[in-house]
Amino acid sequence: MKSLIIQPCELLRRPFANSIWRLDDIFCDAEKVSHHTPRISLTFDDGPIPEQTPWVLDILDQYNIKATFFVVGDNVRKYPDVFREVVARGHEVGNHTFNHVQMLRMSWRDYVKNIRLCSEEAQKALPGVRMRFFRAPHGQITPWRCRELTTGSSALMSGLGFTNMVFWDVMPMDYDSRLTPREVAKNTRTYLRDGSVIVMHDSIKAGERMRYALSTTIDEVLSKGWHIVPIP
Ligand SMILES: [Zn+2]
Repeated sequence: MKSLIIQPCELLRRPFANSIWRLDDIFCDAEKVSHHTPRISLTFDDGPIPEQTPWVLDILDQYNIKATFFVVGDNVRKYPDVFREVVARGHEVGNHTFNHVQMLRMSWRDYVKNIRLCSEEAQKALPGVRMRFFRAPHGQITPWRCRELTTGSSALMSGLGFTNMVFWDVMPMDYDSRLTPREVAKNTRTYLRDGSVIVMHDSIKAGERMRYALSTTIDEVLSKGWHIVPIP
């Protein structure tokens, strides 16, 4: 079960339309053929916060890596400067709800309202900023709601403008306080493969575990000659 959380299997991924689990899901076929060097993407959830996000931005800058940050609207409200800094440094931002709510614990209408609040905070902090991607807290979303959110066909969805739901290919569990930083880094190393979208957390909880796993992962991936690319 634990390994299914760290790396969701093909069977689990298939029912979700317009979703990105791995980079293969979004690169077109011609592009895949022309690209021979293995590549992965880094994503960060639950920020932005002053205690962690600037540290992440600095290490990404050191290696000239661009990533995707799935922000919580309430943190954007509290730390608009940190949010603006993420965008100013060339990273993409995605929506991760206003206060990390779980879909199965509320009505669909309230859930979408919560998502909208996050987008509104982002607009307040940085007018015109675009959020193409949504990531559901805890990955909690059904295939039909995933479709609804990314096709934007109903009135409830109007103006949100998500093109894709983003899940992950490697979740090293940096948030789990029972794990040591080395164990989190090992989770990444064990499951990482060409096309992986990795999720880490720029949160207080992930703390040192995230920092250690992130720096060792970047070192290992680059020393193998692989590329770290943003989700296109
Ligand atoms: Zn989250």
